[in-house]
Amino acid sequence: MNILITGGAGFIGSNFVRYMVNKYPNYQITNLDALTYAGNLENLKDVEDSSNYEFVRGDIADRDFIQNLFESKEFDYVINFAAESHVDRSITHPDVFIKANIQGTQVLLDAAKSINVKKYLQISTDEVYGTLGETGYFTEETPLAPNSPYSASKAGADLLVRAYHETYNLPVNITRCSNNYGPYHFPEKLIPLIIINALADKDLPVYGDGLNVRDWLHVEDHCQAIDLVLHKGVNGEVYNVGGNNERTNIDIVKTILKQLGKPESLIKYVTDRPGHDRRYAIDATKLRNELGWKPKYTFETGIEQTINWYLENQDWWKNIISGDYQEYFESQYGKR
Ligand code: NAD
Repeated sequence: MNILITGGAGFIGSNFVRYMVNKYPNYQITNLDALTYAGNLENLKDVEDSSNYEFVRGDIADRDFIQNLFESKEFDYVINFAAESHVDRSITHPDVFIKANIQGTQVLLDAAKSINVKKYLQISTDEVYGTLGETGYFTEETPLAPNSPYSASKAGADLLVRAYHETYNLPVNITRCSNNYGPYHFPEKLIPLIIINALADKDLPVYGDGLNVRDWLHVEDHCQAIDLVLHKGVNGEVYNVGGNNERTNIDIVKTILKQLGKPESLIKYVTDRPGHDRRYAIDATKLRNELGWKPKYTFETGIEQTINWYLENQDWWKNIISGDYQEYFESQYGKR
């Protein structure tokens, strides 16, 4: 099997590359990543010399480059993680999101169609469903109602993936996952930001009243779900992925402070993000019942593992914060 993983230098992509390289030594894995600010090859130091792994730098929206790559490698499976992923950045720079997330997906779909891949798997998000009130869950039938430029660009991509199945019979799946956490999470996101700031006794910014609810899933459980959908998913189907771990943002912050032995006085409420969705919660019954998925972490065991990882891997995040890794990769790969 020849597999293309795009966005494999990012948070979830790098965890998935590691999972696949170790689990399937007979698969040839190509990691294609543009190395934007969010891409970091240090996430993959432990697998970069594996004989079944190769890194290629490139942009999924670069049609000629992608077409040539697909023709030369004849990929069997394509898994698209590559995306601009930070909601706050999408509010200030929506154009970048449209190009990477929508045009990039279309270029990949065309290339996948041209070489008749066995599966095209789009990694999407529960944010395409919009927001929930205090009750209820997102199912695969929930209408798409994105509220941020980020989620709108992901929803646009999902619709293209669906259309390529309906129109061209491309064998596709879409997974829509809730918020991930775990090792190699970029320090601008809530959980790593709180851990890192708390360790330095810095302010912990919390949006609005802190009562926005997210459904948290450990990244390794997401990787296992993607593996199942890749191998067993029924063509054309969407699968929701989520661990039934609803937590308010302020709960998350207090849990981390407690585990690190730091005071709640570090918490600073800041002006809410515009269009901030109130609550996300995923119904993953279809994935559990039809494909037999079962997460291995509870939120309690997962957050403990994650905090320990950040304590044990301080060089990784200190490099990012100091900008050292930016300088190193620019010297290796040119300007971003
Ligand atoms: P990330 O920002 O950490 O990583 C994205 C990666 O994509 C980076 O390595 C970046 O360099 C690369 N990239 C960006 N634009 C590219 C382009 N045009 N061509 C090639 N590479 C490009 O993101 P993440 O948190 O790992 O998310 C990965 C995917 O999972 C995204 O599609 C995201 O929408 C989805 N998702 C994320 C979450 C979450 O909680 N983080 C939840 C559900 C779904």
